[in-house]
Amino acid sequence: MNIYDVTIIGAGPGGLACAIKASQLGLRYVLLEKGDDVFQGIIDSYPRGKKVYPTLPKGETEPFAIPELMPDETHAPIEEYLKKIAACIQKYQIHVSLGEEFQEIKKEKGIFTLMTSRNHYRSHSVVLAFGSNIPVDLGIYGEAKTVARKLENSDDHLGAPTLVIGGGNAAADVIATLSEAKRAAGDATPVYWAHKMENFTINKDVARDLGEEILLGGHIKILQGAIPKIGELDEEGVEHLLIQTQAVDFGQGVKFQQWMSFPMKHVIACIGTQGPSRVFDRIGLQQITCTEGICKIGKTGDRLIMLTPDYQTSQKGIYAIGGAVSPAYIEIQEEGNFRERKHSNLIYTAVRDAAVAVSHIASVIQNPIKLQEVKL
Ligand SMILES: Cc1cc2nc3c(=O)[nH]c(=O)nc-3n(C[C@H](O)[C@H](O)[C@H](O)COP(=O)(O)OP(=O)(O)OC[C@H]3O[C@@H](n4cnc5c(N)ncnc54)[C@H](O)[C@@H]3O)c2cc1C
Repeated sequence: MNIYDVTIIGAGPGGLACAIKASQLGLRYVLLEKGDDVFQGIIDSYPRGKKVYPTLPKGETEPFAIPELMPDETHAPIEEYLKKIAACIQKYQIHVSLGEEFQEIKKEKGIFTLMTSRNHYRSHSVVLAFGSNIPVDLGIYGEAKTVARKLENSDDHLGAPTLVIGGGNAAADVIATLSEAKRAAGDATPVYWAHKMENFTINKDVARDLGEEILLGGHIKILQGAIPKIGELDEEGVEHLLIQTQAVDFGQGVKFQQWMSFPMKHVIACIGTQGPSRVFDRIGLQQITCTEGICKIGKTGDRLIMLTPDYQTSQKGIYAIGGAVSPAYIEIQEEGNFRERKHSNLIYTAVRDAAVAVSHIASVIQNPIKLQEVKL
């Protein structure tokens, strides 16, 4: 198996900038993106036609580290910016491995093995450029990785009951869209809407759309207090999700429970996103919990990752950049002091971090003994 100099996780502005810098410095890189497109995070979160600003953090005067990634001064809409990005990928001949969701990292004899949903990659260093929006875990026992997080194509759910999990606007939107598509296709299979709480919280506009859909004959079934519990394979090897829809405790260890089972490919979990702190924990990267007096930018209870000025984490060879380390991190200074650093979540910052981190990786590869292990 190939050993790369660097594995880059996430092809947003930060990850793409890493790949460009790596190719400029002659490093062997692999760029992994869980979505179907480069900049998937931006595609999913920017409204259509949104103007993109080339904002610099306060006090910053340096130009964009990779000028081709700078949004236009004319504040062109996102669609134009994405065209510019496509041209930049073409210019630098950047290869992106799409549909590769990072899951785990192991280190053996100084080499990282990185597992994705599809492959294994080996490299001398890793850059975590997966942004700030990490999907909340379903928190169930067993594999649930194949559960979709958004509705890709309503037609995929025609002819089969679909389970949508979540109690907010995103889930309600998916329910209304799916139900409308099923109704239009003359498909009588229901859309189940499950939430672990008794109350659903949606805004007026979403409630109106959903109400309209129900009045028009949408086949929507509500499962209140329903808790996803376990993923399992059926006798034909199809992955299912089991959701507990009722539980009554008769005491003395006697319980009545009711369950429903859905093929994972017909489950959509709209349960939101969280910061990357839990992923950092899973990898074993040191973070500091903010308490009053320690943090001025982070709120009490926030966990801030510890980074060197080159964005290297507490594990030598693993770097974290861009949205993943915003809005603040703890910088480990040369004298061994720690300092909270503000880190604006901007395209500029992600690109700048990438240039700094990859230059550092290149210098380690060219001069491995010069650099010391990070001691905390
Ligand atoms: C609505 C909105 C408007 C904004 N407008 C502006 C603006 O005008 N100007 C500006 O400078 N900034 C703007 N920002 C902020 C800017 O988009 C972010 O600062 C920037 O996208 C951060 O880049 P990143 O590469 O760190 O993360 P992201 O852009 O989030 O990219 C991370 C990538 O990693 C992928 N990924 C995540 N998890 C995994 C995984 N496990 N495995 C593999 N891949 C993974 C994601 O799919 C994504 O493509 C805006 C943000 C939002 C939400």
